[in-house]
Amino acid sequence: DQTQTINFGAGPAKIPQSVLLKAQQEFLNFSTSGISVLEMSHRASDFIQIINRTESVLRELLNIPANYKVLFLQGGGSGQFSAIPLNLIGLKKDMCADYVVTGTWSEKAAKEAEKYGKINIVHPKMDSYTKIPDPSSWTLNPAASYVYYCNNETIHGVEFNFIPETNSVVLVCDMSSNFLSRPIDVSKFGLIYAGAQKNVGCAGVTVVIVREDLLGHTLKECPIILDYKTQAELNSMYNTPPCYSIYIMGLVLEWIKSNGGGAAMESLNQQKSLLIYDVINSSNGFYVCPVEETCRSRMNIPFRIRSKEGDATLEKEFLEGASKKGMISLKGHRSVGGIRASLYNAVTLQDTEALATYMKEFLRQHQ
Ligand code: PMP
Repeated sequence: DQTQTINFGAGPAKIPQSVLLKAQQEFLNFSTSGISVLEMSHRASDFIQIINRTESVLRELLNIPANYKVLFLQGGGSGQFSAIPLNLIGLKKDMCADYVVTGTWSEKAAKEAEKYGKINIVHPKMDSYTKIPDPSSWTLNPAASYVYYCNNETIHGVEFNFIPETNSVVLVCDMSSNFLSRPIDVSKFGLIYAGAQKNVGCAGVTVVIVREDLLGHTLKECPIILDYKTQAELNSMYNTPPCYSIYIMGLVLEWIKSNGGGAAMESLNQQKSLLIYDVINSSNGFYVCPVEETCRSRMNIPFRIRSKEGDATLEKEFLEGASKKGMISLKGHRSVGGIRASLYNAVTLQDTEALATYMKEFLRQHQ
């Protein structure tokens, strides 16, 4: 039963109930079309309206300047961290780029980029991903085509609360897991991308917001579906776009808008994450979050029980107990283990209170 289950998954993740109901209501017959969005030509006027409306709500929510293109692409976040070097490493003749590596996702992105140019990791390699190295210690290369970072590391729970200064080198950001969780100044970035399946819908579509003047430097071996210039010229329709996922994203964006936009999401996300961090911080070391306080994620909270390595028996019991209460998908990523609570926009304050209450109860029973 939907109403009894609380989904704390890291993505695909919870979608607002009202969005699911609207999609259900429109499922068999969208508007006056007589067919489902699933069956609709991407060239049909109904679908053109869906994609245009989705773009315009996104532009409004993020206040996207007119000199930025919005693309709706396939291949997920991974498709985009491959597409970025293919499209942007040729911006300058040295064919190099700077990467800030604060977790699995930026690490993967840097590794992929190495296929196409010289990649400089701007700080010494870290043994564990629990912090953001002090920006004053980064060795940024002024000849780099771009500086890349991940705004929120979904697995490690490390989130930036500032926009890095790059001395006018193009800034590229993976916002997959905190997109629209707070307002952002798009004009500070050359490119932003985000997979939809966390904060803005379901899997299948990835949004790319890219400054127009950066287009047209694509390497010749770039597969055409990853070529931003081609996709921008054809309104993301070089080939069939992920129509249904774009439709769902449109509904989620409308939901964000009617709930107060990025600023309202930010204050709610702040409140929610504090509830959980408070339980962790006041547990006398029973719950352990390895991430430094200044960069703890508001979206994904990884924690262990009793020690940094975790107590496997207690963690298993914690997860089983949570599941009995309808709280699901709290297991940490398989690469790090432990527990992870993801608190994306659609997770409500009440959902989060239920988790905090359970954590306190579990603590009382086991300390
Ligand atoms: N970046 C981040 C921050 C992610 O969390 C993920 C997926 N969890 C990806 C990139 C990769 O996305 P995808 O699985 O859609 O390729």
